[in-house]
Amino acid sequence: MPEVLKEGEAGGKTLPSHTRVVVIGGGVVGCSILFHLAKFGWKDVVLLERDELTSGSSWHAAGQIHTISSDPNISRLQGYTIDLYKEIEETSGQSVGLHMTGGFYLASNKTWYDYLKRERSKARYMGLNQEFISPEELARRHPLIDPKHYLAALWDDQDGDLDPSGATYAFAKAARHHGAQYFTHCGVTETKQRPDGSWDVTTPKGVINAEHIVNCGGLWAREVGHMQGLNIPVQPMEHHYLITEAIPEIAERSERLPCGIDYEANIYFRQERQGMLLGTYEPRGTPWKVDGTPWDFGHELLPPDLDRIADRLELGFDRIPALGRAGIKDMINGPFTFGPDGNPMIGPVPGMTNYWCAVGVMAGFCQGGGVGLTMAEWMIDGEPSIDVWAMDVARFGDWASPDWGTVKSTENYERRFVMTFPNETLPKGRKQKTTALYDRLVAKGAIMDQGFGLEHALWFADGPEDAHEVPSFERNRSFDYVKREVEAVRSDVGAIEIANFAKHEFKGTGARVFLDRVLAGHVPKPGRLTLTPMLTEKGKLYGDLTVACLAEDHFMLFGSGAMQEAHRRWFEARLPDDVAYANVSDDWHGIAISGPKSRDLLQQITRKDVSAETFKFRDLDQCFVGDVPVILNRISFSGESGYEIYCKPQYLIRLSEAIEEAGADLGLRWYGARALMSMRLEKGWGAWALDFRPDFNAVESGLDAFINWKKDFIGKAAAEEQRASGAEKKLVTLVIDVDGIDVSNDEAILRNGEAVGYVSSGGYAHHVGKSVAMGYIPSEMAKDGVELQVEILGEMYDARVQGAPLYDANGANMRA
Ligand SMILES: Cc1cc2nc3c(=O)[nH]c(=O)nc-3n(C[C@H](O)[C@H](O)[C@H](O)COP(=O)(O)OP(=O)(O)OC[C@H]3O[C@@H](n4cnc5c(N)ncnc54)[C@H](O)[C@@H]3O)c2cc1C
Repeated sequence: MPEVLKEGEAGGKTLPSHTRVVVIGGGVVGCSILFHLAKFGWKDVVLLERDELTSGSSWHAAGQIHTISSDPNISRLQGYTIDLYKEIEETSGQSVGLHMTGGFYLASNKTWYDYLKRERSKARYMGLNQEFISPEELARRHPLIDPKHYLAALWDDQDGDLDPSGATYAFAKAARHHGAQYFTHCGVTETKQRPDGSWDVTTPKGVINAEHIVNCGGLWAREVGHMQGLNIPVQPMEHHYLITEAIPEIAERSERLPCGIDYEANIYFRQERQGMLLGTYEPRGTPWKVDGTPWDFGHELLPPDLDRIADRLELGFDRIPALGRAGIKDMINGPFTFGPDGNPMIGPVPGMTNYWCAVGVMAGFCQGGGVGLTMAEWMIDGEPSIDVWAMDVARFGDWASPDWGTVKSTENYERRFVMTFPNETLPKGRKQKTTALYDRLVAKGAIMDQGFGLEHALWFADGPEDAHEVPSFERNRSFDYVKREVEAVRSDVGAIEIANFAKHEFKGTGARVFLDRVLAGHVPKPGRLTLTPMLTEKGKLYGDLTVACLAEDHFMLFGSGAMQEAHRRWFEARLPDDVAYANVSDDWHGIAISGPKSRDLLQQITRKDVSAETFKFRDLDQCFVGDVPVILNRISFSGESGYEIYCKPQYLIRLSEAIEEAGADLGLRWYGARALMSMRLEKGWGAWALDFRPDFNAVESGLDAFINWKKDFIGKAAAEEQRASGAEKKLVTLVIDVDGIDVSNDEAILRNGEAVGYVSSGGYAHHVGKSVAMGYIPSEMAKDGVELQVEILGEMYDARVQGAPLYDANGANMRA
């Protein structure tokens, strides 16, 4: 039990015995969630704080706010958060000490300039107000900066700073204004679920029964999770910033200086009273309290360690010379919590009912409002209004152990201001999950990446000595190798490991009825496969799945590996008694073979007759291939005739050896995810998490072609309405006139200089030899041959809408 809990009536009031929601933790995140729930109509909600509000990391934050984020929807939510401060100040009467000074991101070399050009392109479509300014203009807006270090700066109007405690209290008081309650000195010591799914939340002041609980424990998120046996892979990190004495040049100014970030120097800075605040993410991060945050930690700071950040300060003094002349008034070293990829972990926890979390929010004052909004929408409406996959707690699974969480969170802290290129894979926490083929593929030269904890091949170099990536925004050394893989599949046969696809198994008399309701498309007959979208109640895409009917009462669904826990959560929340469900992704590994010679290869290693007449496109069978029991699907994401062969993990080596042996005379080549993505681009097929995601509906994405409109299904009413009113935007393929560089993601699509859409995915289509992007544009422009432009690293390139697929337009090869 936390020892810091004080006696006396909590908050001067008596705790209610029942409430709809208990929010655990009164930092900025918990208070924002409380505010949003109450504002949107759930008045009967209670926040419990073990000490005073802001007793975690919230009180000692630097208070800097900005919209920039690697994920566009998180940027949107950061914009929302910043706009919200005025409202909560007015509603609560509590000052948040907001200074909207504007701010800039400094380009000290070409690479950072390129990076910022990509950010600018993203912001263009999102309608965020960002512009490049010259070094001279930079010096005019911030006379203390030495402009000689910079090529340019990206200016953002929506940057500024605030008072962290004021902002947290403003959320809490505004929540109370809307009818919510909060209790301080009322720590939660136990959470226990009743059979009806509600929670008994124990405090020294009594027990509250709540329909839902939300873990907003911040620095104690792990400990609050442990009360329920839940492991949350976040890690508090030590973090320094300093505040200078008054600087004469600032004291003389009437206007407040803008804030800024210099990525290369790894510093952020802003005006603080008449001095400056300077913070840094040092290259060797220091995890704090790896074994758990003590309950008696409160409004305390950690001993500063100047040596740790001295080299960064030097750089700071170089770039802002007045800083070097000023005395240091205060040195703050405080802990705050990071998640493995630096983004928050929010939403309903898979495998649990009515247990929510909003933890690992490392930029609470930029993101807290957006997290509160999203959580309230999710709880009240059943789904967030925009795709929040980048923040969804379900993007991690059981494999995300405490040690892995610490290693990756530390890596993320250290890389906070370090460039990550589109083709770059991060080194820490690797080999967390591997298949039996891992060493063999690496020995062949595989460059591996990690997805949902599992290693998979991106592309194959010429042996292990040759296997390295050169991080770049431009076409890179993998280009020729990937081309070679694509050509092998298009002309002979290729093999790719497919353990990383998710597999969901449904058994029971009610399985067909259940799937018919949950999936929008056709549920196949025994021995057949179908493709289907899965929709939310609001008609948004929530899955793009292959359904295999193994028997009348036995189905397997194949889908996005990354989404497997999110889909498990979705299925389990709706599961009737007569259906047994399991996420069996780890129980089935496998290999796909594709290409014109794939049938020859397959026939050599199975007694089953796999001739085109007998084993047709979208047939499946449970049989023996390569002497091992498999599920054999006649389907391929490469656009060629091909087969997915799934086996139990213990058979994978045997299967792979059989394939390699039979393929030796057929030109067999192993290929990786890059080649697969290139091939699906030339077929015009979208990919989950990029082109297909809950930001779009079936009509916009074209997945309505797979809907069975004759039946009832989740999201049907909304989908019918969307179909009747017509889509405002449509997913298209664009061919870009460009050489040496391709899109990666999120670039603006323009018409006559005006942003009309953005790139959802793209790259080089090696077989057809074209640079290709997919993206959503207004429906009236989504016609073959319409001329548009795509912005890549600040340059505008001509692009044309491609009507028919670039390769095998009528699907003859695929069905052959
Ligand atoms: C030095 C430093 C500088 C920073 N600068 C910035 C910045 O410039 N901009 C920015 O956006 N962010 C910044 N941050 C990060 C920001 O402070 C955090 O993102 C934010 O505070 C996270 O808020 P939270 O509500 O999730 O967690 P916390 O603030 O840690 O709050 C958690 C709360 O839960 C309570 N609690 C825990 N367990 C229980 C329990 N069992 N029962 C009841 N209550 C419980 C705690 O007492 C605490 O009050 C900075 C952080 C640090 C350390």
